[in-house]
Amino acid sequence: MNAYLLKNGRILDPAQRLDMRGDLRLRAGQIAEMAPSLTPEAGEMVIDCTDCWVAPGLVDIHVHLREPGQSHKETLQTGGAAAVVGGFTSVCCMPNTDPPLDSSTLVREILSRAAQESPCKVYVVAALTQGMRGETPCDYHALKQAGAVACSDDAFPVQSAETMRRAMLGCAAYDLPVVTHCEDKTLSEGASMHAGAVSARLGLKGAPSSAETVQIARNALLAQETGCHLHIQHLSTAMGVELVRFFRARGVQITTEVSPHHLLLTDVACTDFDTDAKMNPPLRAEADRVALAQGVLDGVIDCIATDHAPHAPFEKMQPFPVAPFGIVGLETALGCMLLWNNQLSQPLTPLQMVNLLSTAPARLMRLPAGTLAIGASADVVVIDPNLHWRVSPDNLHSKSKNTPFKGWELLGKARYTFVNGVMVHQHA
Ligand SMILES: [Zn+2]
Ligand SMILES: [Zn+2]
Repeated sequence: MNAYLLKNGRILDPAQRLDMRGDLRLRAGQIAEMAPSLTPEAGEMVIDCTDCWVAPGLVDIHVHLREPGQSHKETLQTGGAAAVVGGFTSVCCMPNTDPPLDSSTLVREILSRAAQESPCKVYVVAALTQGMRGETPCDYHALKQAGAVACSDDAFPVQSAETMRRAMLGCAAYDLPVVTHCEDKTLSEGASMHAGAVSARLGLKGAPSSAETVQIARNALLAQETGCHLHIQHLSTAMGVELVRFFRARGVQITTEVSPHHLLLTDVACTDFDTDAKMNPPLRAEADRVALAQGVLDGVIDCIATDHAPHAPFEKMQPFPVAPFGIVGLETALGCMLLWNNQLSQPLTPLQMVNLLSTAPARLMRLPAGTLAIGASADVVVIDPNLHWRVSPDNLHSKSKNTPFKGWELLGKARYTFVNGVMVHQHA
C-alpha cells in the first residue's frame, strides 16, 4: 500500500513559506493534496502526526558513500539506510572513491546502482580534475550529460590556482557548481587537528585556520573572474565566514555549508585523543564555533551538510596522528541541529530549520527536492521535534560507527520517512 494520509501535523514547506496545521495526502508517489482537514479514502493508511513536523525530506549535499572501492566502510545500501533513518531523502555523494568518479561511465554506474540499492535518492558530485590529482580538468560536458550535479575534488583540493581557474571556466560553461574543500596543503601538511592551545598541549601538529581561509580567498577571487558558482564545503573558521560575507557582498556567486559537528564541538573534543573527533577541516576554537553559529543565523551560511565520512573501527582505532579523518553524520544531524537550535537564546523557527536542512541545500545543487508542492515527488519526513534520544553507535544503520556524539542525548528524530511516496523508515 502506497497511499498515506498524514493527519494533524505541523506542515512546513519553506519553498512555499508555508507553516500550517493540517493534513497531507501522498498518493501515486506524489504530494497529492494538502488541507486543514482531509477525509481518509479507501486503501489509505492514516498516520497521526499530532505534535510532529511534516516536512520535505531532508537533503544532504555532502556525503561519502564509499562506493566503488571502499565498501568495508559504507555501501550505497547502508549509506542510504542511514540517510532515511536520519530523515534524509536525497543525498549528494562525493567522488573521492576508488577509483574516483571522474568519468561519465562511473557517474552513470553509481546512479543506476544507487537507484536499485539505496533507499534514498542519490545524486553524484563528480570529480573536478582527472583522478583528483589536481592537474587536468575533467570532461565536464560528459559528466553533466551523465547526470553529475556538480564537481569537486573534496579531500584532495586543487593546489594549483591555474588549474582551478581552468576547472572553474569549464564548469561555468556547463552550469555545474564548483564545490570546494578549501585547504592549502602547504599549511596543513602533517596536521591531525586544529593548531591552537589544545594541539600544543597534546603535542599534536595542528592546521592553522589560514589553511582554510587562504584557499577560500583564492577560490572566491577565481570565481569572481570566471563567473562560476562556487560552493564552499564545511566552513570551519570565523575568518572564513567573513570572507564569504565579503565576496558575496561584491556579487560573487558564492554559497556555503556548515556541518553539525562544527556548530556543536570544538578542538577540546580531541583532548582524550578520541579519533572520532578527528576530521578535516578540524574542530576549531570556541570563537570559530560562535562565528559559524552567527553565520547560520544571519544567512551567510546557506545550509547544513554532514560530510558523512564513514571509517571502519580498525581504521579509527589507530593512534590519533595516523587515523583517517572523518565522522558519520547522517543519523545524528537532525538531532544535533535541533539540540543546537534549542540552546540558542533566540532559536530559529521550525520553518527556518527545515530550510537549512532541506529546501536550501536542494536549491543550491538544483535538485528536484525540498518542497511539498502539489505534484512534487512525495519525499517527506515526519519529525518528532520533542523526542530526546541517546546516540548509541551500535544502533547506527551506517556500516561505520565513528561518531563523536556517542552517548549524547540529542533532540528530535525522524518518525517516518517517505521516498517517492513509499515508506522507507519508521521509528519503532
Ligand atoms: Zn572535505
Ligand atoms: Zn567530504
